[in-house]
Amino acid sequence: MTATIAIVGRPNVGKSTLFNRLIGRQHAIVDDQPGVTRDRREGDASLAGLRFRIIDTAGLEEASTGSLEDRMRRKARISDKVEQLMVEDALRAIQYAHLCVLLVDATEELHRQDLAIARLIAEEGRAVVIGANKWDAVRNRQAAAQGIDDRLQTSLAQLRGVPVVHTSGLHGRGLDKMLAAAEEMYGLWNTRISTGRLNRWLEGMLEAHPPPLVEGRRLRIRYMTQIKTRPPTFALFVSRPADLPESYLRYLTTGLRTDFGLWGIPVRMVMRKGDNPYAGKARKR
Ligand code: GDP
Ligand code: MG
Repeated sequence: MTATIAIVGRPNVGKSTLFNRLIGRQHAIVDDQPGVTRDRREGDASLAGLRFRIIDTAGLEEASTGSLEDRMRRKARISDKVEQLMVEDALRAIQYAHLCVLLVDATEELHRQDLAIARLIAEEGRAVVIGANKWDAVRNRQAAAQGIDDRLQTSLAQLRGVPVVHTSGLHGRGLDKMLAAAEEMYGLWNTRISTGRLNRWLEGMLEAHPPPLVEGRRLRIRYMTQIKTRPPTFALFVSRPADLPESYLRYLTTGLRTDFGLWGIPVRMVMRKGDNPYAGKARKR
């Protein structure tokens, strides 16, 4: 299986440089046919026999091309417009990819847009690896690493456990680590947990912390099953889904991530009303 990886990030963080580096060391892409664009934005790379399809995405430069006059005229609204185009291009790539390498510029503080893109990736349910790029140019590496970790931790709960790899696309450093992290997260994203294991686990969780009473009646969580992978998505069968507090759902999701090693990827819980739909007739009322 070939994992498709999109390289996304703000303009100028080094996406195209990294892309060329990953593709270039695999094989040079040469198109001699007339009319074929030389500006290839997709290519293949491999690591230890695993194949990756890599997609480069546009940034500010591409989005803001046009005559100087045009650009002046658009100046008032350019930042909105550009941001919108960047987001649109990134979103297309995110939806097409299995996993995203979110490239950030490690010589600067994380920007609001870095986190906005991270949020987009999480919302789309894709796996992610963060590349703290231009690491070669970072003066105080310890402070930079700490700064990125802190900002990620406090900004987006979904990002807990996402690997941060220090890279230099320019010098080709950290790329093996980056692809290895991508492979690992791709594996997690494809996790499948058997219904038997899930329900044994659920029983323990319910015992440790029973669901609350609502209007004097105990909420019943009767059954759980994984309904899809990529990302792992679980259905919970609840007597009255609307009454299940957010905090209890969080307790279960956090427990699931911790006990099955699912940090760093999106995990989804959907609630369904009623009993185990797969149980035999004997259990039906
Ligand atoms: P993109 O807009 O994200 O595609 O960024 P580019 O790949 O076009 O790179 C933007 C600028 O950053 C260029 O001047 C690159 O030479 C520089 N750059 C890219 N990667 C690195 C890196 O790893 N280290 C350093 N020091 N500079 C880099
Ligand atoms: Mg570029």
